[in-house]
Amino acid sequence: MENPEIRYTYPMSEAQKWLCFIHKIAPDHTAYNEYNAVKINSHLDIETWKATWQKIVERHAILRTTYGTDKEGEPVQIVHPTMNVPMQVIDAKDWSEEQLKQEILACADVLYDLEKDPIIRLYLFQRSATEWVQLFTIHQIASDSFTKDLFLKEFQQLYGGIPVKEPLAYTDFVNWESEMLKSPWGETLWQYWEKQLGGELPILDLPTDLPRPSVVTYRSDSHEFKLNQELVSRLKQLQSDSISLFKIALSAFYVLLYRYTNQTDIIVNIPTENRLGKKEFKDVAGYLASLVVVPVNLEGNTTFKELLIQVAHTVDQALKHEAYNYPLSQLVKQLKLKSNFRHPLVSSVMFNWRKLGWYDTEFQEGLLQIEPYLLEEQRGAPYDLSVEMIEVGDELNVRWNYNSDLFNSETIDRIARHYLTLLEGIVANPETPIFKLPLLTESERHQLLIEWNNTQVYYPKDKCIHQLFEEQVEKTPDAVAVVFENRQLTYRDLNCRANQLAHYLQSEGVGPEVLVGICVERSLEMVVGLLGIIKAGGAYVPIDPTYPSERISYMLENSQASVLLTQKNLVAGLPEIRAQIICLDADWNLVSQQTDLNPNCTASEENLAYVIYTSGSTGKPKGVAMKHLALRNLILWQRSNTTVSTRAKTLQFVPISFDVSFLEIFSTWCGGGTLVLISEELRRDLVALLHLVRAKQVERLFLPFVALQQLAETAQTLGLIPTSLREVITAGEQLQITPAIASFFSQLKDCSLHNQYGPSETHVVVTVFTLTGSTDTWPALPPIGRPIANIQIYLLDQFAQPVPVGIPGELYIGGVSLAKGYLNRPELTEQKFIPNPFSNKPGSRLYKTGDLARYLPDGNIEYLGRIDNQVKVRGFRIELGEIEV
Ligand code: AMP
Ligand code: MG
Repeated sequence: MENPEIRYTYPMSEAQKWLCFIHKIAPDHTAYNEYNAVKINSHLDIETWKATWQKIVERHAILRTTYGTDKEGEPVQIVHPTMNVPMQVIDAKDWSEEQLKQEILACADVLYDLEKDPIIRLYLFQRSATEWVQLFTIHQIASDSFTKDLFLKEFQQLYGGIPVKEPLAYTDFVNWESEMLKSPWGETLWQYWEKQLGGELPILDLPTDLPRPSVVTYRSDSHEFKLNQELVSRLKQLQSDSISLFKIALSAFYVLLYRYTNQTDIIVNIPTENRLGKKEFKDVAGYLASLVVVPVNLEGNTTFKELLIQVAHTVDQALKHEAYNYPLSQLVKQLKLKSNFRHPLVSSVMFNWRKLGWYDTEFQEGLLQIEPYLLEEQRGAPYDLSVEMIEVGDELNVRWNYNSDLFNSETIDRIARHYLTLLEGIVANPETPIFKLPLLTESERHQLLIEWNNTQVYYPKDKCIHQLFEEQVEKTPDAVAVVFENRQLTYRDLNCRANQLAHYLQSEGVGPEVLVGICVERSLEMVVGLLGIIKAGGAYVPIDPTYPSERISYMLENSQASVLLTQKNLVAGLPEIRAQIICLDADWNLVSQQTDLNPNCTASEENLAYVIYTSGSTGKPKGVAMKHLALRNLILWQRSNTTVSTRAKTLQFVPISFDVSFLEIFSTWCGGGTLVLISEELRRDLVALLHLVRAKQVERLFLPFVALQQLAETAQTLGLIPTSLREVITAGEQLQITPAIASFFSQLKDCSLHNQYGPSETHVVVTVFTLTGSTDTWPALPPIGRPIANIQIYLLDQFAQPVPVGIPGELYIGGVSLAKGYLNRPELTEQKFIPNPFSNKPGSRLYKTGDLARYLPDGNIEYLGRIDNQVKVRGFRIELGEIEV
C-alpha cells in the first residue's frame, strides 16, 4: 500500500520516454497538447463540478504525475500524493462562438513544463444558466483518446453520484511493457516488424506547394468537412465481418495517395488504442495508444474491392502484432540503425479513425447531458498530411491536418474534394480499377480541359507565311528588313532577291512538298535563301555547316532534298551528295537573271515550310515536318502579342537549325521590324555582342536560358547594360531567375521577359509566361505559363487521364501547332502524335512531349523535368539513346 504522504518514482513507458525526449528538444511546440471540449446542457453546481474533478485527480495517479530523472539520470515518473489542478470558471455569456473557439484553442496551446506542471487543466465556460462548455487540456504523456473519453465518462458518472470501479495503475503497464520487450516474444515482434520494414523504406513524395525544408517541421493547420449520411450509409454497404468502415475509408486514402504520387509502395501510420489484446490494461488511464505502420503495395489495375481485401488483411496483421505492443519509438530507434531510414515516424502520412467513446453510450437517467463541442484537432505533428475521421452518430467528420510549411489551404481543400470524389466513385462501382476511379469533380474537369484551354483566337486563314511577308513589303518597302555588318536590305530589296531565287528554284523543280537543304554561314544569303525556298513553294531543311559530314549526308539522304543551297567556301567540306548544289554567292549571277516579281506560289497551308532535324533515340536524328498552317498561327500570335514597336530591331541569334530562328526571323518580317544578323564569331563573343546590341539599339532578343544567364553576367561585370531592350524571350530550358538575371532586368526600363515553352514537334512556342514589373516579385523558377492562341495543353497520367491541379502529369499538346509528323517515320509519328481523346474533330491529334509538368492553382503550368532521359546540351536536345548507340 502506498503511503499517501510521500512521492513515489516509477520508470516511464517507452512512449513517455520518447515524448520527454521530444519535449526536451522542442519544448515550445504544442503537437502533444491535447484537449477535450464538450457542451453540457443543464444546470451545473460549480462546487460539485470542482469536487468531481478533484475526485478524478485523486483516483488516477497519472493525473498527479510529473516527469523527471532519478539520481542515475534515468527518466522517471514522479507520482505526487496530491496535486493542485487549475480549475477556472469563465463567464462567456457574451462571447461569440468564434471567440469561444479561439479561447479554447488558446487554452490548449498553453505549454507544459513536464517537470513541474499539473498535466491536466480544467475550464468551464458559462454560456447561459443551463449551457456550459467544459474544456480540459492535457499533455499526451498522460493520456490518449481512450483516456480522455474515460475521464469524461467518469466525470459524468461521478457527478451523477454513480459509483465507479477502482482504477488500474499505469505503472503496471510500464512494468509489463519493459518485461515484454526483453522477452523472447519481444524479439519475435521486432523480427516481424523488421521483415515488414526492413527493405528500402519508401518515402512518399506528395507534390507540395512550397519547397520542402531540409528538416521535418511541425507547423500545421487543418481543414474539416463532413461526409453526409447518405454517402456513409452507401460506404457501409461495402462492410462485411472483416471489413469495417475504417478499412474502407483507409483503402480509399491509399488510392488517393497512389493517384497523387504514382508511387506503388506506400506506408501509412495508423494510431491504435493499443488496448485490444491486453485485457488487464484495457481500462487503464494513460498513454497506451500506439502507431502502427501499414505498408501497402498498390497496382493500378487492382480493383478497389481487391485492394480493400488486401488492406484489410495487412491492417489485421499489423494490429495483431500491435496487440502485443511493439512501441513505435522502439521501432524507430532500431530502424534508425539502418541507412535508409528517412522520416522520424517512418511515414509522413497518418490516418486516424476515432469514435467518440462516451458519445455513443446509452443515455442514463440522472446523468448530465453532454454533446461534442469542438472536436479535437491534431496540431503540429511531424506529418505532411494526416487525416482524422471521427464517427459522430451517422455522420463522418473528416479533418485534414497538414504541414503548412508545405501546403496551402486551397490545396488541402482540393485534396479533400478529390477524396470525396473517390469515395463517390467507389460506392458507384467498387469493382473499378483504382487507376480509373474518378478524382476530379465535374467542375475541375471542365476547368482543366475546357476553361484553361479556351484559347480560340481568329486569325485570317487566306495567307501563307511568305504572303504575310509580301503584304508587309507592300506596306513598308523602304524600311530596313535586315542588316548584317555594314550591309543592309530594305523590304523591297529583300523581296526582289528572294523572288529571283524562288523563280530559279522553281525552274529547278522546287514546289510544294519539295525539300531544299540550306547549309550556309550567317549572312544575308542565309536569310534570302530561307525566304526564297518558301516563296518557291518548297520547304527548307536547315543544315549547320559545322555538323559532322555523316550527319549532313544522313539528313540530305533522309529528307531526299533535291537541291542544296550553300556557299562556295563550304562546298569542299560537304560529303558526297545527290542533291543539286546551288551556291548563293558564286551562282548568284545565274539566279539574278530571274525576274524579281513575286512568284506564283502554289503551296497551301497544308504544305510543309520546313523540316528541322532533332536528336532521335535510335541514334539517327529525326526530321520534324512543319506546315504553313501551324507557322502562320505562331507568327500571327507572336505579332499580336509583342510589346515592341513595329519597327523594332530584333537580334537574329539562334542558328537556323533551331526552330526558334523561324520565329525570330518571320515574326520580325511579318511585322515591319528590322532583323539584326550577326556572324558566328560575334555570337560567341558576349562582350562584342553587348556592344552591338547597344550600338544597334536592339529592342528584342530571343536567347536560350543559358545564353541569357551568361549575357546577364557579362553585362553586370562590365557595366554594359543594353538599355534599348524592351523584350527578351527565352526558351529551351527551365528558366531560373538567377541573381544575375534579376539584377540585369532591374536595370532595364520596361523590359519584359517571356518564358516560352515548346518542343520542335510543335510550332516553336505553345505556352508562355511573361514577367514584367519589379524583379523582386519574379519567382525563382517561373512557370511556363498558359497555352497560346489556338493551342490546348493536357496534363495526363500514365493512363492518359487528366491529373488534378498540383499533381505532375505528362504534358500533351493539341491544336493547330502540331507538326505533320516525323519525315518518313510513320511508326514514330504514330507513337508520338496520338489521337486526341478530348476532341471530336476528326483527325485531331495530341503530341506527347515526355515533359513532366503540373498546374498551379491559377492555371499556369509549372515545368518539372523530363520523364525520359532526354537532356539539353548547349541548347541541343539529346536523347541519350543517340549517344549510347
Ligand atoms: P526543342 O525541341 O529543342 O525545342 O526542345 C524541347 C524541350 O526543351 C521541351 O520538351 C522541354 O523539355 C525543353 N524546354 C523548352 N522550353 C522550355 C522552357 N521554357 N522551360 C523548360 N523547358 C523547356
Ligand atoms: Mg523549342
